Amino acid sequence: MIPTTNPFDDDHLREECAVFGVFGHVDAAAHVALGLHALQHRGQEAAGIVAFDGRQFHAHRGLGLVSDIFADSQVIGRLRGSAAVGHTRYSTTGELVLRNVQPLFAEFEFGGMAIAHNGNLTNARLLRQDLIKHGAIFQSTTDTEIFNHLIANGRGAMLDRVIQALNTVEGAYSLIQLTKEGLVGVRDPLGVRPLQLGRLDGGWMLASESCAFDIIGAEFVRDVAPGELIVINDEGVRSHRISLAAKSRFCIFEYIYFARPDSVVEGKSVYAARKEIGAELARESHVEADMVIPVPDSGVPAARGYAQQSGIPFELGIIRNHYVGRTFIEPTDEIRHLGVKLKHNANAGQIAGKRVILVDDSIVRGTTSKKIVEMVRNAGAAKVHMRISSPPTAHSCFYGVDTPERGKLLAATHDEAGIRDAIGVDSLAYISLDGLYRAVGGAARNGAAPQYCDACFSGDYPIALKDQMEGDEPPQLSLLAELG
Ligand code: SF4
Repeated sequence: MIPTTNPFDDDHLREECAVFGVFGHVDAAAHVALGLHALQHRGQEAAGIVAFDGRQFHAHRGLGLVSDIFADSQVIGRLRGSAAVGHTRYSTTGELVLRNVQPLFAEFEFGGMAIAHNGNLTNARLLRQDLIKHGAIFQSTTDTEIFNHLIANGRGAMLDRVIQALNTVEGAYSLIQLTKEGLVGVRDPLGVRPLQLGRLDGGWMLASESCAFDIIGAEFVRDVAPGELIVINDEGVRSHRISLAAKSRFCIFEYIYFARPDSVVEGKSVYAARKEIGAELARESHVEADMVIPVPDSGVPAARGYAQQSGIPFELGIIRNHYVGRTFIEPTDEIRHLGVKLKHNANAGQIAGKRVILVDDSIVRGTTSKKIVEMVRNAGAAKVHMRISSPPTAHSCFYGVDTPERGKLLAATHDEAGIRDAIGVDSLAYISLDGLYRAVGGAARNGAAPQYCDACFSGDYPIALKDQMEGDEPPQLSLLAELG
């Protein structure tokens, strides 16, 4: 049995955040707002910008989409200065309070600092308990605030304190900090989360993905290396190492689903990687059929690759409505009954009487897959095969991606035949982990030294999950109701 859930939940893992920073460019905040707009796919529930004009910091944060929060040109006008940092986030409903919206800002001995963070600290709970025990007062429930307390407790100049804090935290993170001294960008020692450097008119940018540079016409310079700390100020860009070079373990799911297909991350076009994953999937699990149909939008590039490799025609057999929005956030029973149809509709004229291969990027709980298969069958498909461009998602992510607890992941409780029956397809195949590695990296997964984080498939977590290992309950933080 597949559990029922909110019909508006599209049953994907969700990347939790995006970061964008600008230094040395007029209208920095306007550029950050545009960059965040391009990164909206990484978090749709809240966003914020903090700008610095050489004397003062200016901040604006809100709940909702970037285009709504910064729609008023007066808001951007107030965010004066040639340096700014921004953040957009996804969160679970209980955490959706304004005080959690980043960039966080605090005053330190060295002056003000705004911080924006993508990722997750794996020792956050332990650090927070220790800090609270020693008198720290937390304003939010984000692990990002831990950096502030560690930096406040540190010794020496701003950069020394930042490095001391980085030596204390563990986890996956891309960070951008804005101080009166400049912009600081850091990527975690294994480079699990992405961070990139760009350039425009003599100014510098840091962003989660290169599509954020494209929207403002900036030039992509390079990926920030795993364990690299970059300082950008009036003297230019300086690079520091915060950890000995370990082997990179970039999140392989960025290639499957999280990153935008027009981005280039870690030297690879995401679109090309997705097509190659689809081609590899076709080589591994061919089946006779009349057409290949993507589950839009995320299944499109892999379905193109599958169709090209197999020689089976590619057709848009499912059409997606892009305008399902907040109107339906609290659906009535009548609307709830419509479920997946609010977002997807079968293109019956193409499908009726045909043997179809549906290509999707993942199955998380299976709720959406089951409904889509039903919809395609109701449209008259003769056979429905499903091909998935990731290995079975059988483990939760603790590195900055929102995943259901393990027991709710269909692949954690069912084998492939069980999943096939649960979602009601004639055949089901996932790409193998080796096949995925071949598609994105040119070599099979090396068991002893994998090049990527693939923990949600393999259970091989490259960063110790210290908070998970401790049996204690987390401290009960009483958050005020700030929902707005
Ligand atoms: Fe990415 Fe999965 Fe690793 Fe999380 S566990 S960082 S989603 S590969």
